[in-house]
Amino acid sequence: LISKFARIDDLDTLKKSLLELESSFGTGTDTIKEGVEGCIGDTPLIKIKSLSDYTGCEILAKAEFLNGAGNSPKDRVALNIIDVAEGKGLLVPHSGDTIYEGTVGSTGISLAAICRARGYKAHICMPNDMAIEKSDLLLKLGAEVERVRPAPIVDQNQFVNLARTRAAEHTSNPDKPGRGLFADQFETEANWRAHFTGTGPEIYEQTGGFLDAFVSGAGTGGTISGVALYLKSKLPDLKVVLADPPGSGLFNRVKYGVMFDPKEREGTRRRHQVDTIIEGIGINRVTHNFDIGRELIDDAIRVNDDQAVGMARWLVEHDGIFVGSSSAVNCVAAMRLAKMLGPGHRIVTILCDSGARHLSKFWKTETIGGAEDDVSLEGILDA
Ligand code: PMP
Repeated sequence: LISKFARIDDLDTLKKSLLELESSFGTGTDTIKEGVEGCIGDTPLIKIKSLSDYTGCEILAKAEFLNGAGNSPKDRVALNIIDVAEGKGLLVPHSGDTIYEGTVGSTGISLAAICRARGYKAHICMPNDMAIEKSDLLLKLGAEVERVRPAPIVDQNQFVNLARTRAAEHTSNPDKPGRGLFADQFETEANWRAHFTGTGPEIYEQTGGFLDAFVSGAGTGGTISGVALYLKSKLPDLKVVLADPPGSGLFNRVKYGVMFDPKEREGTRRRHQVDTIIEGIGINRVTHNFDIGRELIDDAIRVNDDQAVGMARWLVEHDGIFVGSSSAVNCVAAMRLAKMLGPGHRIVTILCDSGARHLSKFWKTETIGGAEDDVSLEGILDA
């Protein structure tokens, strides 16, 4: 049949290779994923060719936006938080339970997707200055969304505090169906442990244990701590570097052991809210998830908005990689670290989410610029 239609001369060779191919097929079941939960983890490690060529280092990025539930590293965290709670009997699938969380978006999106799959309700509190795509997506995923004014952590209406209060109101209200659980991503062990057992070991395996540095921003701190705890247990000489956006206190915490530069102390939190367009990383308190890995962070690199914007443009124009603001910050820091270390090193960083989640803010033309604005890596380093 093949020879009739395809006019293939070497039919025997073709038949032989088809037979070989077929004999290598498994039963099929080993490649089928069990629901969205099955699509979480085992993300690719991508060599960013343009940055690697430019620096002479191998710059590798863990493509966490390819996690298949909520498309960010928070899929791992949300799944672990829910699994741990179910294990303790705090949540029972399809019993009308509600998960409450304070999030700038990614964790809420991951929770909402898994909640749909497991038969829970999701109630998300988030600051109202985050890209609108995130709250739209949450609503489509069936979450209840409360968008609140950005506020410092001492304010009871701050998004994390509000989510905690909403969970407590649920628990104390006998008319509410099911249980109410506060996911508590900033303080829960289930967060960094998801990276300690997932992201970290995957990076180790994908690099064959050959890497010199790991670079990451921190929001809750779960990623940098969990990965650093695992990788440094295997590679004590690995350099772990924090990438920090404007207005965050973590840079000073790592560099100088204090949260605030005394000169900057006044209004730092306000500046973070108002003056940076970077979402998801940078914070002005030491959470449990940051604290657990804090001693393992060797250095910090400050990245400004112009550098992040330039890098996001560069990555899509030269590598076809379309990412959001925190991923761009990570890549600027990885490039700067490569410049500091010199050629021949291997640096791993994280691509957190897609640019599609940031179209109305970070990626809007007024911010990101147009084709007429030239982007160069030298320019990004100098910005
Ligand atoms: N990037 C994005 C887009 C995020 O939403 C977050 C988490 N807020 C991070 C990076 C930082 O991850 P972590 O909370 O593990 O520090």
